[in-house]
Amino acid sequence: MDSPPGVTTDRGPTKDPVGRIRSGVWTTAASAGRHWCVNQVTTAGGGIIRILIVGGGPAGLTAAQRLQRALRDQLRTGRAQITLVEAAPYLTYRPLLPEVAAGSVDPRHVVVPLRPALPDCTVLTARISRIDHSRRLAWIAPQDGVEVELPYDELVLTVGSVSRTRPVPGLAEHGLGFETVGEAVSLRNHVLAQLDLASSTRDPELRHAALTFVFVGAGYGGVGALAELEDMARYAIREYPTIQPDDLRWVLVEATDRILAEAAPELAAHALAQLRERNVDVRLSTQLDSAQGLITLSDGTRFAARTLVWTAGVRPAPLLAATDLPLGAGGRVECLDTLQVAGPDGRPLPGAWAAGDCAAVPDPPHGSCPPNAQQALAQAARLADNLVAVAAGRPAQAYLPERTLASASLGLHRAVAHTGGRSRTGRRAWLLHRARTLRRLPSTDRRIRVLADWLLGALFSREVASLAAVEHPRAEFRAAVGEHDH
Ligand SMILES: Cc1cc2nc3c(=O)[nH]c(=O)nc-3n(C[C@H](O)[C@H](O)[C@H](O)COP(=O)(O)OP(=O)(O)OC[C@H]3O[C@@H](n4cnc5c(N)ncnc54)[C@H](O)[C@@H]3O)c2cc1C
Repeated sequence: MDSPPGVTTDRGPTKDPVGRIRSGVWTTAASAGRHWCVNQVTTAGGGIIRILIVGGGPAGLTAAQRLQRALRDQLRTGRAQITLVEAAPYLTYRPLLPEVAAGSVDPRHVVVPLRPALPDCTVLTARISRIDHSRRLAWIAPQDGVEVELPYDELVLTVGSVSRTRPVPGLAEHGLGFETVGEAVSLRNHVLAQLDLASSTRDPELRHAALTFVFVGAGYGGVGALAELEDMARYAIREYPTIQPDDLRWVLVEATDRILAEAAPELAAHALAQLRERNVDVRLSTQLDSAQGLITLSDGTRFAARTLVWTAGVRPAPLLAATDLPLGAGGRVECLDTLQVAGPDGRPLPGAWAAGDCAAVPDPPHGSCPPNAQQALAQAARLADNLVAVAAGRPAQAYLPERTLASASLGLHRAVAHTGGRSRTGRRAWLLHRARTLRRLPSTDRRIRVLADWLLGALFSREVASLAAVEHPRAEFRAAVGEHDH
């Protein structure tokens, strides 16, 4: 049977040698030309539990893996079905994107393909467009006019967050994002290309603009990316006799009065001190007003820069607004400490769960948990355990947020880390950060590969060649064909 148009699914209804169902079945039960329905695999005994997980980031994959382990027997006998719907066929582990940009980790090693990680689940590469929880139905975004309906019993929302942008003149034309592997690779190539440009031009203004790098937003993404790239660029200019370290200008613009809002204030203060020691121009309580022509900041500063990276915070995934679930302040799904979605009466909304960046999970007395990978992973594990417990008639347990294990890398051999009630800096903090990052990466295979990257990095010198040409793979060939035509 064909998959609905625009949706990539598993091979179809297949069984392994012991008769275990390995993938979901597309049926046309509700099909009337425009409308498909994905039904569960029906079993002779009935009584199946259908779990729909929306979002395959750290929270979604962790929840799915844990549920897969806990429900192995039910999944293999067809008494349970887990379907995970994710827009990409892989998880992107974003805490490692700054190291991808710095060239310390291979881009392929920070993504975890979902299908091999979830052999007992159905993985759909698609986007959910709306959810009607009162009818326990979700819909896959229509492509070619066809809408796919997904019925479920238990909904696990782990759709995370997306970049929060403002209508800044010139931002769309000149800004770069930093959320995907592609963007991390592209930024690395761009920064290295600026060094090549600065070393070969005779125009002092162009040289100055090429060596000025502006990052807007000082969360984990902005601070990590700037710190890693500054470190890499300082290393790279050893091969550029005409560029001195003081020629490089790094500017970090943050609208609030502190950096790393997702981490503890002491940790953020250490990171700020380290960045300033490295001559990074950190501007707090400042906004980007314009990127048209010159960079214009709200404190009145104007200067030329050829690199503008937008990492200014996140907002919950847009899907949340297309559900009938109660949303809290900031647009996140209001949750109880059991990771169950809170109903209007403050009691658990039956069959609805959420975790990660998209969920407002209580963290008294701070309000709700900050959106970071550490929280997403720990919440997802508790969510999965609670879902299994509630389905078995046992009580759910409260999630107890752990805030003291935060850390952030600030380049090779530099980091800030919170441990045992203290903030640490320097090499020890860096080793601790790497150990934590590795432990949290939700794939053993990827852990080994990232570790191998780090070990190779310690043995050999850093790779600092710009591969900007890979972004225009057809340019050379087109030029050659054009020449031939004339
Ligand atoms: C550059 C960068 C660096 C970071 N560094 C750190 C760090 O050092 N430490 C730290 O703790 N945190 C860090 N973070 C934050 C961390 O990455 C997030 O908190 C974490 O990824 C949240 O996980 P999640 O699963 O909740 O959401 P996400 O990782 O956002 O995953 C959600 C998934 O849902 C999918 N999705 C969304 N909508 C739909 C839909 N409608 N249909 C189907 N799928 C959908 C998305 O494609 C996505 O894959 C960083 C973030 C960035 C951007």
